[in-house]
Amino acid sequence: MNRQELSQKIIDTCLEMTRLGLNQGTAGNVSVRYKDGMLITPTGMPYHLMKPENIVYVDGKGKYEENKLPSSEWQFHLAVYQARPEANAVVHNHSINCAGLSILEKPIPAIHYMVAVGGTDHIPCVPYATFGTHELASYVGEGIKESKAILLSHHGLIACGENLDKALWLAQEVEVLASWYLKLLSTGLEIPLLSKEQMNVVLGKFHTYGLRIEE
Ligand SMILES: [Zn+2]
Repeated sequence: MNRQELSQKIIDTCLEMTRLGLNQGTAGNVSVRYKDGMLITPTGMPYHLMKPENIVYVDGKGKYEENKLPSSEWQFHLAVYQARPEANAVVHNHSINCAGLSILEKPIPAIHYMVAVGGTDHIPCVPYATFGTHELASYVGEGIKESKAILLSHHGLIACGENLDKALWLAQEVEVLASWYLKLLSTGLEIPLLSKEQMNVVLGKFHTYGLRIEE
């Protein structure tokens, strides 16, 4: 896909994220790997007003086009591409359940076999740092090596993938896991977890067969 097509796909993904109920206001942002850097949504613009020419190119050193301002979270998007060579798309949002769980500073443990979607036996939660900072980007760069989806303490979710469809699908799956986990926590009951062995079987199957999603 050329820049125009990729930019349109970014906008379509933002609109789909809203349709799925994963966005809160203009809080979410989306990017794709492009040349030695990325194309990313601009700061503070409602998705329904966004045009492909508003999407911003940020190079691998963090330099961006004049007269354009990328999302304030551009540093952690770039950190994901640097940490995961196979990732070509990043989705970030403040979805209700992921952000809610992030306030408890809790990873999602193996409550259900689908926690394996991130590539490990839990969905990690990285420490808090102020939005838009290098410090937060460095936490993200470390955390995302462990899992393709991570919670950011007192903030929200990041999910990456080989393309935008896969990254958005992953964000949706983790939102479901987060909603289950929050409900379970609120019961005050002890929550049974799948064992390391049980999760290793699932991780092996996911690795062998992959995950089929609609493209
Ligand atoms: Zn955010």
